[in-house]
Amino acid sequence: MRVITKPIIEPSLVYSKCLNSIANRAKRDNFRSVKEYVKIKSEDYNAKATIGDLYTISIHSGVNAILTTDDMKKVLYGQQMLGKPKGRKIYDNIMSLAPLDRCPFCGIGTVSTLDHYLPKVKFPTFSVLPYNLVPSCKDCNTGKSTSYATTKEGQTLHPYYDDFTDEQWLFAKVLKTSPVSIKFFINTPNNWDDISKSRVDVHFIDYDLGKRFSIESINELAKLNSSFRLFPLKKRLIKKQLNKQALTMKKIHLNSWESALYQALSESDWYCNGGFNE
Ligand SMILES: [Zn+2]
Repeated sequence: MRVITKPIIEPSLVYSKCLNSIANRAKRDNFRSVKEYVKIKSEDYNAKATIGDLYTISIHSGVNAILTTDDMKKVLYGQQMLGKPKGRKIYDNIMSLAPLDRCPFCGIGTVSTLDHYLPKVKFPTFSVLPYNLVPSCKDCNTGKSTSYATTKEGQTLHPYYDDFTDEQWLFAKVLKTSPVSIKFFINTPNNWDDISKSRVDVHFIDYDLGKRFSIESINELAKLNSSFRLFPLKKRLIKKQLNKQALTMKKIHLNSWESALYQALSESDWYCNGGFNE
């Protein structure tokens, strides 16, 4: 999970730019008539997201009894934001907020879409709200689908608002299998409150990160095993090399699968003693 900078573009401006290109005048006026309502709801979204309270926003149908869910989802988001040059430019700008095109939800996939943190089918008011549109890889976007949280502790992490990057919570365990394999797990600091602990757990489970990180690590392990077989080193030196790599990776992203992998390998006597030969 990575933190990314929240879009700086004004939500009302995005809404206006999208609605301005609607060809049908009556339809356009309908969208315009709820602009103030959407603005107030967008400010409420931002305020709630800042304190981790997005779960208190109720699912709804349409916008202020004037627009339907399809108006927001298909017309404003689908046709105007995705389909028209002005809207598409905003969409692409938001996608570019993810450093190195890396998906902030998992930290492994490449960004290829924008995910609606609160799904547009259930929360149509936020269909084109920039704060609700998060760069995402295909796997994270598809996996999450239209699910949403109804409790504070049940919320996945929101990359624009939730920063859990200061302390280590992602760890891994070396499994003495043949060949060696890795199990990733969450171990949040004891001094964290129960809600933060739960949210990191929920994020890890909902995005299936344990399994996805294990798959990522297979290739890395194969390279390491091969290197230690080709260029034999004393156990102490293997440990030292792996530890150096763990510290380097932690400096880049404390809770990346690479950091957890190298830390686990460097701490495993079994692996450093020849487990890489299995
Ligand atoms: Zn992802």
